[in-house]
Amino acid sequence: MTAPSPDARPLGLLGGTFDPIHFAHLRLAEEARESLGLAEVALIPAGTPPHREAPGSSAEHRLAMVELAVAGNALLRCEDLEVRAAGRSYTVLTLERLRQREGPGRALVLILGADAFAGLPRWHRCDELLGLAHIAVANRPGHDRRWLQAMPSQLAHLCGDRVTHEPAALRASPAGAIVPFDMTPLSISATHIRNLVAHGRSARYLLPDSVVDYIGRHCLYRGTR
Ligand code: ATP
Repeated sequence: MTAPSPDARPLGLLGGTFDPIHFAHLRLAEEARESLGLAEVALIPAGTPPHREAPGSSAEHRLAMVELAVAGNALLRCEDLEVRAAGRSYTVLTLERLRQREGPGRALVLILGADAFAGLPRWHRCDELLGLAHIAVANRPGHDRRWLQAMPSQLAHLCGDRVTHEPAALRASPAGAIVPFDMTPLSISATHIRNLVAHGRSARYLLPDSVVDYIGRHCLYRGTR
């Protein structure tokens, strides 16, 4: 791959089910952008996620909620390419599409919480991911990152000697580095929010008001767990 053009800062990519999107997702995107020097972060709701049960709400609803959540922040945007694509949402296919669109020199940074990173060896064509993008890994309460020093063997094999604590590595090449970074620890999950709503309880202040209103208007998550 060729070196990135000097004026093109890395593009951050935050995939997720976003069922629904919440403040920890938004802080993850915002803090990654700021501390890693990313030009912007694209939030990419999964269409049919391959690694988990079917989401509680449709792809269209999850997309609409992400759009509401990022409205007003010019440096975060919603990317609908997985929702619009037919078939399962494999990250490697999304990265291939984005690599084609952004060109071979643009640095792409896939942003993951520690729980998602730990599951990487189970991802489709996982050994190709780092050829397409860098990976930035954030802490998540309940998901210790001490294993970065003592990783399970499959993950260690995947990572090789690519882990660096230097964000500058993300600008030095288009792909291939793994950069852990710290974000404000927020113990929020979409599962917890769905549970609250299913039990008729308030989820306010865990996610944007606009998304709370959307959930209410469309009667999402009632009677789900
Ligand atoms: P669910 O509870 O339905 O599993 P979730 O809250 O984990 O959902 P996802 O859409 O599955 O949200 O997560 C998208 C990305 O955001 C993943 O990389 C995940 O690790 C990260 N993430 C989600 N919540 C947090 C959090 N509280 N702290 C750090 N990272 C998070």
